[in-house]
Amino acid sequence: MEFNVLQHFKGLAELGRDLGTDPFDGDQVGTSLFMTGGMGPQISKKMDESAKKAGLSRRNFIRSSLGFSAAMLAANEVTGMKFFEVNSAQAEDFDAKKEAIQVARAGSGDFIVDVHTHVCTRPGHYQLGVNTTERGMWFVQLLDDLGKAFGLPNGTRDMNVENYGKLILQESDTTVGVFNPFGFREDYGGQDMIPMEYQVGVREKWPKSTLMLAGGLTPNQGLSVTLDRLAMYVEKYKISGLKLYTFDSTKKKGWWFDDEKLAYPIWEACRKHGIKNVGCHKGIPFGQFYARYAHAEDFDAAADDFLDLNFIAYHSAWPYHAELAALKGFKPQRKNLYCEVGSTFAATVTSRPLECAHVLGTLLRDLGPDYVLWGTDSLLWGNPQWQIEAFRNFQIPDQLVEGHGYPKITPEIRRKVFGENAARIWNIDKKAAMTAKAEILANKTSYA
Ligand SMILES: [Zn+2]
Repeated sequence: MEFNVLQHFKGLAELGRDLGTDPFDGDQVGTSLFMTGGMGPQISKKMDESAKKAGLSRRNFIRSSLGFSAAMLAANEVTGMKFFEVNSAQAEDFDAKKEAIQVARAGSGDFIVDVHTHVCTRPGHYQLGVNTTERGMWFVQLLDDLGKAFGLPNGTRDMNVENYGKLILQESDTTVGVFNPFGFREDYGGQDMIPMEYQVGVREKWPKSTLMLAGGLTPNQGLSVTLDRLAMYVEKYKISGLKLYTFDSTKKKGWWFDDEKLAYPIWEACRKHGIKNVGCHKGIPFGQFYARYAHAEDFDAAADDFLDLNFIAYHSAWPYHAELAALKGFKPQRKNLYCEVGSTFAATVTSRPLECAHVLGTLLRDLGPDYVLWGTDSLLWGNPQWQIEAFRNFQIPDQLVEGHGYPKITPEIRRKVFGENAARIWNIDKKAAMTAKAEILANKTSYA
């Protein structure tokens, strides 16, 4: 079981074995994705030419930081559009590359809040027929395959607390990680797929660099149980918000944010508990779940009726992002509707950059640059650094700006998306977070 849109990750695993890709090296991961994505064969050919120009063997070139610039350059050439702001010097010369990294960093800022991250295992893990149903296993298998493709030898087992710190906080430029659990306990032996009591280990280890959201609240399991759990999460775990799923594993299959009987009592309780930010998985209708609940139409009434809460559409509801964008595009007075780009950006940028530009363009044009949040869905996608570098260099080509009214991605927009918007809605102390980040880098451990 797999996403068709993710099929090329099979090739990624193969290339990784060939090259000995280091999953902790963001450049290598990014380059490999370009070489195995939708434009893979054409990009690979151009990589050979670039390696010659740089005077390196193919293998050494692909494994070097130059390789990632060369791959972005190749994507521009293959498509005939300028999606990436790179030039040929950055693909041939290490000094030029270093300088380009500094320039891109200066332009986008080095304060990065990844509002969409996960660990993805639990004590006892997932065993078919023992603590996991067949349907539950679809999702585990999907994430296992992704992790292995990215070079984590044990798939989801490697998406643990320890590697969260290594991959997201040490090896990427991420300053603050916001993480959330998965519920669906009907499919996982009566226990949440990722239980709160396991994932809280992330915040215990990195309290100044992470924020924890609660999840697994499913009103179809009973509203009073749901409200009790919410109160417990607030009191015991001091949560920073919610990330929920409107599809679920109960017999009813799903619920809606605008359900006045099932959902509104949750939002009222959020008000009472001082919870401001409520996210929901929208779009990417994966595995065992029904696509209808991945649409964002239920945000419309909920956002109007709870103006003091922020509603965040995770994954930006892709491929239904236009429906989400219309909720603000035609109601510009709205100030509490947000989107987050995790997995959506990752799945499109190296393989379908034109689609990526349309998605980002639509969100930035209609929701607005103050309402788009950075997220990577790591550890599902390994080290998020390649996504950070790709976004630092990504641009909406002029043709789309003129033809669709999308904005150009300015340094100001990059800074807002990368961190300022999240800092505003989560009240993140930027200075303290930057200090904590510097401490993590200073104490960096070796684990290669
Ligand atoms: Zn996620």
